[in-house]
Amino acid sequence: MITKTYGFRRAVRALFPAALAWALATCATNPVTGRRELSLVSESQEIAMGKEAADQTVASIGAVPDNALQSYVSGLGMTLARASERPGLPWSFTVIDDPMVNAFALPGGPVFVTRGILSHMNSEAQLVSVLGHEIGHITAKHSVQQMSQAQLAQIGLIAAIVVKPGLAQFGDLASQGLGLLFLKFGRDDETQADDLGFRYMVGAGYSPREMAEMFRTLERLGGGAEGRVPEWMSTHPDPGNRVQKTLDRMNAQPASSQASKVERDTFLQRTEGLIFGENPRLGFFRQTSFLHPDLKFQFDFPGGWKTQNQAAAVVGVSSQQDAIIALALAGTAAPSQALSEFLGQQGIQGSSGSTGSVNGLQAAAAEFTAQTDEGTLAGRVGFVSLDNRTYRLLAYTPSQQYGAYRSTFAQALGSFRRLTDPSALAVQPVRVRLVRLPRAMTVTEFHAAYPSPIPVAEVALINGVEPGTTLPAGTLVKRVQ
Ligand SMILES: [Zn+2]
Repeated sequence: MITKTYGFRRAVRALFPAALAWALATCATNPVTGRRELSLVSESQEIAMGKEAADQTVASIGAVPDNALQSYVSGLGMTLARASERPGLPWSFTVIDDPMVNAFALPGGPVFVTRGILSHMNSEAQLVSVLGHEIGHITAKHSVQQMSQAQLAQIGLIAAIVVKPGLAQFGDLASQGLGLLFLKFGRDDETQADDLGFRYMVGAGYSPREMAEMFRTLERLGGGAEGRVPEWMSTHPDPGNRVQKTLDRMNAQPASSQASKVERDTFLQRTEGLIFGENPRLGFFRQTSFLHPDLKFQFDFPGGWKTQNQAAAVVGVSSQQDAIIALALAGTAAPSQALSEFLGQQGIQGSSGSTGSVNGLQAAAAEFTAQTDEGTLAGRVGFVSLDNRTYRLLAYTPSQQYGAYRSTFAQALGSFRRLTDPSALAVQPVRVRLVRLPRAMTVTEFHAAYPSPIPVAEVALINGVEPGTTLPAGTLVKRVQ
């Protein structure tokens, strides 16, 4: 897998039901190596864990709303998976709405690629090489082997919150606030996934040279494009070595040169119109202020907090990682009614509730404490109504810390207001656009003739070449617009 950046999304949390962590150890045959090995999870548990995490991935990040693209990627993935050692798993392949260059596999079948990695690919064969690598993590059960250790790890207070049935909203929050448990694989596992991906792509007739090309692009990304391949270097073998290893595999298996499918134009045409980089319509940050042009609101997180805009919520975590503020849609009920429903949940006690207005918007707020298996939480909850939508603003911390955060919470919750800045309301995403070259030109000449609001080095990068490379007439070339 390729790892995510966001600080708290990477924080380990109690993602899986605790009972599974102590599931009976059983011996199972590894489908790839054929060896029998100790496994803490059965295949049905593996599938259940992966499905739960996959549902949370889609809920927290969102799928790219493009059915044609989704079924294209899914069709390619299914072809590889059905020819793998574990054809019967409930495989799924999803493009998630994330600008990061990333791909990852969850136990038991779910594979995800980001729109960010798609915009950096230049052929169907490159996509197949990444899908094959992720399929390899699943067929070789790498995540199952990691799972038992990860399940036992609990880092930080919030991660340790085990939710009682009556505290469903905190369950949501724990998952929204701490993101998914992205497992880290060792280098041996990564090399094995590369081996398997190579085998799968060649088996499907795709040119393994494109796997090397994909690694070259990742190598270029590692050097520049700040923040886009976070942690790549720390979790994956050096991409340069992966290029060499791919070439070695090709030499060792001369028959692999028969596999020649590339499908460059087919792939590129599928990526036309893909949003490139962040989609600011769905909300963006200006320092610690969160602005949402589509929903027309603005909210200020405390300074120094780590923040993240997810599909279902905008979340901030304090620098000490002991407090959370989360903003989410909460239906259409009046704020006072939404507040009394919140405080009416089992295990929650409210105090000093008030109804009134926040920056001219109808609102209701209260302080509360909540009993969880891991101790008492204290916080402040507010509901605010804007354009017939009610928002829930929820801030909490362990009760013993509440005194330190009380005014911070009140100030943040009081900052929710209508977004009126015309430039923020009018902001638009940039998208991938294709140009068929009327004549041969270098990427630098292309960038002068067909400008993009990104540097020429990045234009070259997304096209998988160097700025000085001359591209022949008739080549499809990407720009962003
Ligand atoms: Zn990997």
